[in-house]
Amino acid sequence: MSQHRVWKRIVGVEHTVIEAVELDGEVGVEVVVVSVRPTRSRRGRCGQCRRRCPGYDQGGGRRRWRAPDLGTVIVELEADAPRVRCGDHGVVVAAVPWARANTRFSYAFEDTCAWMAAHTSGAATAEYLRVAWRTVTAIVERVVAGRLDGKTRFDGVTRIGIDEIAHRKGHRYLTAVTDHDTGRLIWAAPGRDTATVEAFFDAIGPERAAKITHVSADGAEWIHTAVTNKAPQAIICLDAFHVVAWATKALDQVRRDLAGELRRAGATDAAAGIKGTRWALLKNPADLTAIQRGTLAGLAQTNRGVYRAYLLKEQLRAVFAAKGDHGRSLLGGWLYWAKRSQLEPFTKLARTIERYKDLIVNTLIHGLSNARSEATNVHLRVLTRRAYGFHSPEALIAMAFLTRGGCCPDLPGRA
Ligand SMILES: [Zn+2]
Repeated sequence: MSQHRVWKRIVGVEHTVIEAVELDGEVGVEVVVVSVRPTRSRRGRCGQCRRRCPGYDQGGGRRRWRAPDLGTVIVELEADAPRVRCGDHGVVVAAVPWARANTRFSYAFEDTCAWMAAHTSGAATAEYLRVAWRTVTAIVERVVAGRLDGKTRFDGVTRIGIDEIAHRKGHRYLTAVTDHDTGRLIWAAPGRDTATVEAFFDAIGPERAAKITHVSADGAEWIHTAVTNKAPQAIICLDAFHVVAWATKALDQVRRDLAGELRRAGATDAAAGIKGTRWALLKNPADLTAIQRGTLAGLAQTNRGVYRAYLLKEQLRAVFAAKGDHGRSLLGGWLYWAKRSQLEPFTKLARTIERYKDLIVNTLIHGLSNARSEATNVHLRVLTRRAYGFHSPEALIAMAFLTRGGCCPDLPGRA
């Protein structure tokens, strides 16, 4: 194998001629500089549309692009960056076969970066690649934009979940749409109002909108309004995930009310004891440790109210696990019991559930399994809490598509 081909493989480029390889810079900050040029067929093309067009000038002279490191040393590709005049895009820097437009990083570097951002921590990605976190998010935006082309991700979608995701500490919102059958994120945009949801239906077009059979959502009226306007044939279901979350919140309220009562009555030890029950109460029974099971048994003896609330939460989960007519009759029983529970948070929840009963029955009857879209929603919420944050909603959306929208590239050289 010639030196030329060896170097092409090492730096991960195609349609490229290797002119020279040199070590540049001082010890500790050395850079392997690989001088390159596009092969004849790739020269003189528009950086936007890649069509062949006439040359304009030599642009800003030699430019460099980071490629993946070689062992311990930084690698940079160096080449001329002439400009061309495109009929559609005007005077632009000519396309290069080793990098996307308007970036200082090669394809191999950017794909590695995106893969790491999807699979490991932001801090590790930035440190390992010697770039700032903001650079990582900009790279993710570029990689995702290239892989999200076209509307094929909307093809064959019939059952969707529409959800709002808070970010910026709850001051801003995104609306996210997932495909129930694949669990994939298929659309997201800043905002939470009817117009935002209608923009989704406009994006997929009236033909695809007419094929949507089921839409699950939380109780938000603005979602329901948009669905009724744009996909009137779709059956609206209430996400089991949200309903169970309401019950979990009600249970937490009962527990806190009791702890407050005990504290006010001077029973500080008992109040602390109630505080310590939180995790046992909120976990699913199957995930409980032996000690947490003991905690629950103790509660059943001494704090009937909290234990009753716990059973109400679990019973509601059981309603959704049962589905169909059986689930429907369990729901009737649940409402009867909750209304008479003498626990204010649960009598209130019973009224809410009564109001949405038709939509909940839709969920039970149509058996919308939301395990996959729930996983996507949970993941999106985790993303919004990521240590470094995202400088724009678009950066957050790009990261969401990378990890849950099927936009993560393979690591270079592994095909
Ligand atoms: Zn062009």
